[in-house]
Amino acid sequence: MAAITRDKMKELRDHFAARQHELLALTCALVEAESPSGDKEGSSAVVSLLASAASSIPSVKSVERITAENFGEHVRIQGFAEQSQHRPLMILGHTDTVHPRGAIKERPWRTEDNKIFGPGIFDMKVNCAMALEALRACDAVGVIPQRPITILLTCDEESGSPTGRPLVEAESKNVRVVLVLEPPASGGRVKTSRKGTGMFTISVEGRAAHAGLDPDKGISAVLELAKQTVRLHELNDPNTGTTVTVNVVSGGTHSNVIPSQATAEVDLRFTSADEGARLERKILSLIPEDSRAKITVAGGINRPPLERTSKVEGLYGHARTLASLLDFDLGEASVGGASDGNFAAALGVPVLDGLGVQGDGAHAVHEHILCDEIPTRGALLAALIATI
Ligand SMILES: [Zn+2]
Repeated sequence: MAAITRDKMKELRDHFAARQHELLALTCALVEAESPSGDKEGSSAVVSLLASAASSIPSVKSVERITAENFGEHVRIQGFAEQSQHRPLMILGHTDTVHPRGAIKERPWRTEDNKIFGPGIFDMKVNCAMALEALRACDAVGVIPQRPITILLTCDEESGSPTGRPLVEAESKNVRVVLVLEPPASGGRVKTSRKGTGMFTISVEGRAAHAGLDPDKGISAVLELAKQTVRLHELNDPNTGTTVTVNVVSGGTHSNVIPSQATAEVDLRFTSADEGARLERKILSLIPEDSRAKITVAGGINRPPLERTSKVEGLYGHARTLASLLDFDLGEASVGGASDGNFAAALGVPVLDGLGVQGDGAHAVHEHILCDEIPTRGALLAALIATI
C-alpha cells in the first residue's frame, strides 16, 4: 500500500469541507426521494440522482443500472478505469433504507447544531454521496488511485440482499479490497469483525384435544415449543460470542383446546464459519422431547461472519495510519450485526467495514449524522482508495 503525505490528507479534508454544501444537497435529495427496501420507484429515483451526480465527475467512466426484481435497481459506478491492469478496489454500500415511505413527512430533513436528521441519512445515504465525492476529491487533489475503483450500491441490503448477494459475490471475486460504507460504531470506529447470521422457523405439530374432557389425548405443541426454546437458549455462549434467540412465537387455536401447532422464529449469530455450521446442524436437527410431537425446521445461515483475519487487520492498520495524519485515532469494533461486507469477507477478500460518516440512530426515529465529521471521513475514504 502506498503512502500519502500529511499535506495531501489535509488537502483532501479541505476538499470535502469546501464541497460539503453540494454533498449535503445530494444527500438531502437522496433522503427526500425515500427508498424503503422493496420500493421500486424509490429505488430508481435514488439511482437516477446518483447517476446524474456521477456524470459530473471527470474520472467516472461508466454508470450501470442493474434491475433487481421486486426491489428496483442496483447501481455500479466505475472510475479511474485506465488502471485496468490492476485488480479493482470496491466501495460497497446500499441505497435502500428501513424507513417506510411517508417517514420523511413525519421526520423531515432537519439540522440541529452539528446534527442532521433524516430517515436513512446515517444508514447510509450520506455515504452514497460521499463515495462519489471521494472520486472527485482524488482527481482534484491529484492523488490518483493505482487501480480502477468500483462503487457498488445495492438496493436490497436491508432485506437480507436476496438479489444483491450474487452481485456482491461476483464482484468481490475480482477485487483487491472491499471498503464498506456502513455506519461506524460509536466514536467513529470501523468494524473489523461482524458476526454471521442465521434465521430459522420452527414448526411443531402436536395433537388437538378438549383441554377439559380429553387432556390426555392431546399433545401440546406449545409445551413442546417451550421446551425447545429453553434448549435453544442453552446454546448461547458468551465465550464464543454465539447468540441464539427465539423471538417471534405463536401457537394454539382456542383457549379450551390443547394446541396442535406452534411456531417460532429463531435468530442465530456466530463469530466463525465453523461455529455457524455446528449450530446450523444442531438447530436443523432438533428432536422433540415428547416423541409423539413432530418438529420441522426451515431456514439456515443467511450471512457468513466477517472474521478479523490478518488481511483485515492489515487493512485496518493502514486506515489507522492515514487517520493519524489528520490527528484522528481510528478505533475498531466487533459487532453483532451483519452487512453485505460479510459476503465479500467469506470469499477471502480483505474487507474494512463501518467507513461511513459518524452519527447515531440507524433504523430509528432519531437517525442522524454529525456534519462536522464529513470532511475527515471523506478524506479517509479518498486516501484509502488513492493508496491501496
Ligand atoms: Zn446499512
